[in-house]
Amino acid sequence: MKTIYTFGNGQAEGRADMKDLLGGKGANLAEMNLIGVPVPPGFTITTEVCRLYNEKGREAVVALIKDDVMKSVAHIENLTGNKFNDPSNPQLVSVRSGAPVSMPGMMDTVLNLGINDAVAETMAQKSGNPRFAWDSYRRFVQMYGDVVLGMKPQNKNDIDPFEAIIEEMKEKKGVKLDTELDVDDLKELVVRFKAAVKENTGKDFPTDAYDQLWGAIYAVFDSWNNERAILYRRMNQIPEEYGTAVNVQAMVYGNMGNNSATGVCFSRDAGTGENLFNGEYLINAQGEDVVAGVRTPQQIMTVGSRRWAEMQGISEEERASKYPSLEESMPECAAELVKIQHNLEEHYHDMQDMEFTIQDGKLWLLQTRNGKRTGAAMVKIAMDLLREGAIDEKTVIKRMEPGKLDELLHPVFDKAAVKSAKVMAKGLPASPGAATGQIVFFADDAEEWASRKKKVIMVRIETSPEDLRGMSVAQGILTARGGMTSHAAVVARGMGKCCVSGAGTIKVDYKDRTVEMNGKTYNEGDWISINGSTGEVYDGAVATVDPDLGGDYAAVMALAEKYSKMDVYTNADSPRDALKARELGAHGIGLCRTEHMFFEGDRIKAMREMIIAPDEESRRVALNKLLPLQRGDFEGIFEAMDGYEVTIRLLDPPLHEFVPHQLETMRELAEETGRKLEEVKLICDGLEEFNPMLGHRGCRLGNTYPEITEMQARAIIEAALNVKAKGVDVHPKIMVPLIGVKPEIQMQADIINETAKKVFAERGETVAYKVGTMIEIPRAALVADQIAEVVDFFSFGTNDLTQMTFGYSRDDAGKFLSIYKELGILKEDPFQVLDQEGVGQLVEMATRKGRAANPDLNVGICGEHGGEPKSVKFCNKLNLDYVSCSPYRVPIARLAAAQAAVEAE
Ligand code: PEP
Ligand code: MG
Repeated sequence: MKTIYTFGNGQAEGRADMKDLLGGKGANLAEMNLIGVPVPPGFTITTEVCRLYNEKGREAVVALIKDDVMKSVAHIENLTGNKFNDPSNPQLVSVRSGAPVSMPGMMDTVLNLGINDAVAETMAQKSGNPRFAWDSYRRFVQMYGDVVLGMKPQNKNDIDPFEAIIEEMKEKKGVKLDTELDVDDLKELVVRFKAAVKENTGKDFPTDAYDQLWGAIYAVFDSWNNERAILYRRMNQIPEEYGTAVNVQAMVYGNMGNNSATGVCFSRDAGTGENLFNGEYLINAQGEDVVAGVRTPQQIMTVGSRRWAEMQGISEEERASKYPSLEESMPECAAELVKIQHNLEEHYHDMQDMEFTIQDGKLWLLQTRNGKRTGAAMVKIAMDLLREGAIDEKTVIKRMEPGKLDELLHPVFDKAAVKSAKVMAKGLPASPGAATGQIVFFADDAEEWASRKKKVIMVRIETSPEDLRGMSVAQGILTARGGMTSHAAVVARGMGKCCVSGAGTIKVDYKDRTVEMNGKTYNEGDWISINGSTGEVYDGAVATVDPDLGGDYAAVMALAEKYSKMDVYTNADSPRDALKARELGAHGIGLCRTEHMFFEGDRIKAMREMIIAPDEESRRVALNKLLPLQRGDFEGIFEAMDGYEVTIRLLDPPLHEFVPHQLETMRELAEETGRKLEEVKLICDGLEEFNPMLGHRGCRLGNTYPEITEMQARAIIEAALNVKAKGVDVHPKIMVPLIGVKPEIQMQADIINETAKKVFAERGETVAYKVGTMIEIPRAALVADQIAEVVDFFSFGTNDLTQMTFGYSRDDAGKFLSIYKELGILKEDPFQVLDQEGVGQLVEMATRKGRAANPDLNVGICGEHGGEPKSVKFCNKLNLDYVSCSPYRVPIARLAAAQAAVEAE
């Protein structure tokens, strides 16, 4: 078994495509050698060795790799002419971890390994720069103590023991910067650091270079199983068995004086995607200094440097003298770096994120990888690379992270503004975007304030359909309770409205109209800002900017259209949402939830009248009032969706959701219907259910009160005929919710068909329509073949199907799901990402059985999963005809569908 791969001087045993074995870092170090980029020589211990270490333990691994490590160290020595563990001619190394995928939870870099008192003396003499030698030494003891010996604080608030010593020293000397400490100070730091190590670990600091090296190697392997790394793997679905590689490399020194430097750079702008090489560096510095924020890093390119100075309000004279670019301070190195970054990008066909060091005027690259980027940069860079001929169309699609498109669709916080904003609470990122407004607690206040052109954010413990109108005029919604499929979250996503749900630490007091966050009490009218993409809640008003949906975004979406096979529909309840979804590329409506229409204006009154009606006759009277309103709504939606299918679902929620809960409203209802308050109260109480989600809802309503289905079917058919007469190309689909047994759908289908027949006879005209059902109850999936005989289409309501398959309440699961994820009991929230293993089996089986019984059966999904990339890909695998999701997730679903098709090739 080959345990170690060496590289250096333009040769390498590894390659870029060996990431699984060498880790991302190791594979790219090898590759850079092969393409002529200057990289300090070194070697990579494979991930396979890490797996062995985890299985068989330390001794077995040392026995296995000891000789190879010695040989590989000799390989470095041969190339540099120095000797490891030799005070007369010392060679120092860096040790770094590197997994197949980037993993921030793992071991940081250890630099300057191999140093001790004697080595430091030689380095001081040879370089003629004692400061450099002792600075390297004190850095090493600190890094080794933190990273290898476990002295790094685990908590942000804890103090690093080494930093505490430095602070004390600076105070004593009356200086501010580390760089102001002199050689004697640095020597003293080394002594005190070592004493701190002894005190903390009970052991002397290792002075032998090989002891240091083995310690670092063990630490890298051990870091694979530290808490942070395990948690990160769980959160990102990284397999446990990957393991990490160890990279050992000859040191090059950025802290050797004013002709040395270190920095990080990007071949394009990771924020905007602009094709502009950029980055930061520091003269006479090492490793972490650039990102540590102790000194102000300088820009690499002069263009970038000028932009930076302008933003900072720094004059050109001051910039040029105090903060020159690398182009200005080390023009030759800068020119070489420009060339290298260009070559690397050309080689990898993607934007590169690189680390470099300049030692005494000589440039070395220490790392390159495909750079992380924002959604906007992702789109722009891919399209630019396509135009430049570097990648093809399918690669553009594969490169997209569909979820990141979200960032492009909603208003976003101004970058500078959000930097200085104060986070007061954190909840779930329920519906993306940025919103700023004044706090209101009640729907009618939201409407009233909005009518006065005020921007409001509705803050609620939780929301119910009664809050709908308030939500629709608010900038955003913040709730203390509720998960990703809570009412607030689903409705907000549908509206494309920013929402943070389940912010458990906020305390809402409706009576006093206050909300307490992070110790501060906010009153109605106070300003807050919420970020629905991160779940953060900020103090005060934070500035926002609008997105641009043309250009590259449109081009990427056109490619998605070209390559996807599965269609994407939308969940929309109003002409406005339907038009928005159409604009975002939806090819139909997969779910129109009719109940939301009953909350608008005065409709709720007729609805309530219907619900409390004592008999069929009076129920019909009330329903007749609703009929024209529903018909009007449907006409609007059909017109907006001219040419496309529109799936309208019959009434679904438990009746008690429509019933007044406050005495005041009950009194109103009593007056309007000419009943006694007591009587109304009794009826309302009677509608209370212990478990409404499993109660009198869905098709159970339409089967117990057939006149409701009759009215809705009539409204749909009449609306279709009306718009057809106007020349609209209308394709209505009528969908029955919550079917469990065949007779349920049979009965509903009969009512719908008879009603249609009647309307056609009355009008002397017909229109084609389809009747289908949702599959939301596990039993319906089990007997899908029977059900398919009655219907034209299935639509999986995976919200309810998940709820009923897991037995987790959609509205209450937030309480334990996050803990379950932390404990590793669940990898993901099944209400967000379809549980392919369990719920997915039901979807697969029902599709198969349904299509076998009815070969023309049209099958789609309309639960929240219809807009989640992994779930969309699963639907593509099952050959579903479409997925349906809220308007703002349509582009994400389109892209995921295209990706699924391209990846399946
Ligand atoms: C579902 O259950 O997945 C669904 C789409 O219906 P609703 O969310 O309205 O219950
Ligand atoms: Mg449902």
